[in-house]
Amino acid sequence: MTVYLVGAGPGDPGLLTARALELIAAADVIVHDRLIPSGALHGARPDAELRYVGKGGGGPSVSQEDIGELLLARGRAGLEVVRLKGGDPFVFGRGGEEAELLRDAGIAFEVVPGVTAGIAAPAYAGIPVTHRDAASAVAFVTGHENPDKLESALDWTALARFPGTLVVYMGVRQLEAIARRLIDGGRSPDEPAALIERGTLPDQRVATGTAATIAAVAAREGVGAPAIALFGPVAALSGRLGWLQARPLSGVTVAVTRARAQASGLAARLVALGAQAVQAPAIRIAPLPGPAPELQRYDLVCLTSPNGARCLFERLTAAGRDARALAGARVAAIGPGTAAALRDHGIVADVVPERFVAEGLVEALADVPVRRALVARAAEARDVLPDALRERGAEVDVVALYETVAEPLDPDARAGVAAADYVTFTSSSTVRFFFGAGGTPGPQTRLASIGPVTSDTLREHGREPDVEAERHDIEGLIDALVADVARSTG
Ligand code: SAH
Repeated sequence: MTVYLVGAGPGDPGLLTARALELIAAADVIVHDRLIPSGALHGARPDAELRYVGKGGGGPSVSQEDIGELLLARGRAGLEVVRLKGGDPFVFGRGGEEAELLRDAGIAFEVVPGVTAGIAAPAYAGIPVTHRDAASAVAFVTGHENPDKLESALDWTALARFPGTLVVYMGVRQLEAIARRLIDGGRSPDEPAALIERGTLPDQRVATGTAATIAAVAAREGVGAPAIALFGPVAALSGRLGWLQARPLSGVTVAVTRARAQASGLAARLVALGAQAVQAPAIRIAPLPGPAPELQRYDLVCLTSPNGARCLFERLTAAGRDARALAGARVAAIGPGTAAALRDHGIVADVVPERFVAEGLVEALADVPVRRALVARAAEARDVLPDALRERGAEVDVVALYETVAEPLDPDARAGVAAADYVTFTSSSTVRFFFGAGGTPGPQTRLASIGPVTSDTLREHGREPDVEAERHDIEGLIDALVADVARSTG
């Protein structure tokens, strides 16, 4: 019933607003541009109509008239339409024109501001666009037009005299002419300047110089569109306040091979540390059909993975039961991830070993009296735990709750892996299925293993792990990556 003109922010998916995500999830139709964050549409309804109307980027370009027609047609059809634009819809986004069109047609619209590139890209480059000591005003300027054109809509001489920071959008092509006009208009040639390419994205690049040099520096370093050019004393703060490159995994690309459903946690942690994460799931978790185990028969229930915990509760729920089914038993979890998955269902594990492998759990259970134990786990798993419990005289049942199946590597994932600095393996099955699917790390790619069992599986495939986590969980793997990067960058 409404057309929403929504800003998607400058590129970092974390800068999508809560309102934008909410509207994307509810939309019947999403009409989007090229420069929107990757993954912005992941939350869209599976049946939503997604229309790409981006200009440039090699694809066919859709005229502004056609975009208008589309918005009007879908709006008139009574649909919930999201018009998703990079940055802010009302900052050099033609959002104003689209709003006018909708208003004239009597179609209800709302505007959802977004984080504009002119503020976000400098911020990610360590440049505050205003500063108490250095800039009391900021101007947003389009650099799209040739400033030497006589009919230029912009008065560059007046802009040169503007008492504050100048933030120039779409100015890469004209950068040299713009800088010259500013200097001709009275701006100091020594005024600090910066050009920020692909701001807020993992491969953001920044060129810095002065009004006199910035165009040459940018050309030399090959820094280009999409970029924000910035003139003003605040540009000099970039070196000191640049926080993006200071993150421990900045500039590092890491491929994640674990199942898609689980990968997002690991990927998000890597990204938060500055890495670029490549999703290359080699496995998928397939729950096995079966009844809920009769848990009251056991005095010990062991869960050996977060998936096991989740699948156990799926079966309990399907049988109309809940966490009270575990009331009579001691519950052991192989590690903190499994313990967290149990906690999600209201169960606090009684036993969590120091070492997160089956042998560690056996040790941790040494003083725990056991008569009948249930080991709930994957179909393909080592028998270390059930064997050890049986040796101690316990009666042990093993229930296979899920199996790990191969996920084919799509071409993007394949290319991503070949170009990655690291590939992470979080279980033996990720190793087997990754190489089984023809995954090929590049010559520079370092292989990171979560622990000794996974490392042995790598060796069985003729690969020596370059990194092995000391703590055999996701945290430990991340720590090991950070340490390896720190070592290699000295
Ligand atoms: N509505 C958008 C601007 C659209 S104009 C906004 O509010 O951000 C397109 C211009 O925005 C590009 O030419 C470039 O100058 C700038 N831009 C968009 N995304 C950018 C990014 N991630 N980094 C640097 N500049 C960006």
